[in-house]
Order: sequence, then C-alpha cells, then structure tokens
Amino acid sequence: CGIVGYIGQGAVQNALVNGLEKLEYRGYDSAGIYVVDPAGNGHLFKEKGRIAALSEQVDFEIEASVGIGHTRWATHGVPSVDNAHPHQSANNRFTLVHNGVIENFRELKENYLSDVHLYGETDTEIVVNVIAAMAEKEGLGAKEALQKTLQVVKGSYAFAMIDAEDPSVLYAAKNKSPLLIGLGDDFNMVVSDAMAGVQLTNEYIEIHDGEIVMLTKNEVLIETLTGEVIERASYRATVDA
Ligand code: GLU
Repeated sequence: CGIVGYIGQGAVQNALVNGLEKLEYRGYDSAGIYVVDPAGNGHLFKEKGRIAALSEQVDFEIEASVGIGHTRWATHGVPSVDNAHPHQSANNRFTLVHNGVIENFRELKENYLSDVHLYGETDTEIVVNVIAAMAEKEGLGAKEALQKTLQVVKGSYAFAMIDAEDPSVLYAAKNKSPLLIGLGDDFNMVVSDAMAGVQLTNEYIEIHDGEIVMLTKNEVLIETLTGEVIERASYRATVDA
C-alpha cells in the first residue's frame, strides 16, 4: 500500500517511520521497516496494526545508512507479522517492499523456487526469492538479477529493494503502481506518494514503468530494463503537510 525508502546521511529510522505515518491515511493492516548499519548488518522490524506499535519496537539507536519501509494492505495472505513487508529472500541477501499484485506468482514459484522454503503467503516473498535465485544461479549482481526478474514478473508493482552485499545502493522499479524519487542533500528517497517525503524534501523525479532506479546518497541513476540510461529533470511539488 505505501512505500518509503531512504539512503544517505540522517536519521534513517525516523525518516521511514515518519514517512509511513504520513501514509497512514491510505489504510493498512501491518507495517515494517528494514535498515542496514555501516557494518553491513540488516535489522528488520515488523508489526501488525498501528505504526505506533511498530515504532515502539524499532531500535532508533542503530546508525543506519539505508532503509526501506512499508504499510501493507493485504492482497495475498492474511494480515500477520510474517506476511508484513519488508520481505527477505531465504538467503537473507535481498530485502523487498512491494505495493500491488503479482499475477503470475504461482508460475514463478514453480519455475524458480521448487527448493525454496517460504515463511509467508505473499506474492512479494516469491518475487524477492526469484531475484535471489537469478543472482545465485546465473552469478549476477543485484541490478542484473532485478532486470531479469522484472522481465518475467507480470502484474502491478512498486518495489524498493536493498542488497545486503552492497548497501550503498537502494533499488527501485515500478509497473502500474505509483513511485517517485525524492531528492535531498546527502540523501535520496523513494516514495509511493509525495506525502511520505514531505518533511524532508519537495524535489522529486518521476519513475516510469519499465525502468530500474539506483539511488546512492548523492546520485540518481535511471535505466530501462535493457540498460539504457535515462535522463530526467526533477520538479518541485507542493504538498500540504
Ligand atoms: N500483494 C502484496 C501483499 O499482499 C502487497 C499489498 C500492498 O500493496 O500493500 O502483501
């Protein structure tokens, strides 16, 4: 339902939790965040119910440099902590948040994940494991694994993803679900709704269907699924906080 991602200098957990609170008005049944610290350790927090309950669990002392957050409106699988996003691949390498519905999740599971144990019932957990399977079987980096996966995934999605092997990059992609890049000084964001970034930025770049976005704390790279680089100007949005 709602996505916030953040990479760079600043209070990452605060940016994520505050952003999710700004998306509460859209409705949700559970929420979660995942952050990576400078030593490369990932920390996952998920909770059913209110963002306030999630916030009580989150360790705000971790000096994270990147993170993703999600409010879920269940479409596949009951509202529960296991089914709440972010979702992780079985090898814990990739972590993904997703808005939307993957139509061919059963087929993806049969084709790529016959030997993978899933902890939940979501279409999203299947996608993050397909990314991991692509990376592993074909020895691909995160960008290539994501490109290959998006070529076989059918449905609607806004994705934000972290590869624990290289937490200096935040990945994003979309198809038929809204997602925007938010620009900051020494940080960048990805949000499903400008409201989620309103406290931190008013400068955005559109993402189009069929593109992959790579954010670092001070760079934005947009490519097509076939690797062609896209140049796109930013715009200022006025949103009432
Ligand atoms: N289809 C996903 C799920 O059920 C995402 C739902 C959403 O957009 O929040 O977990």
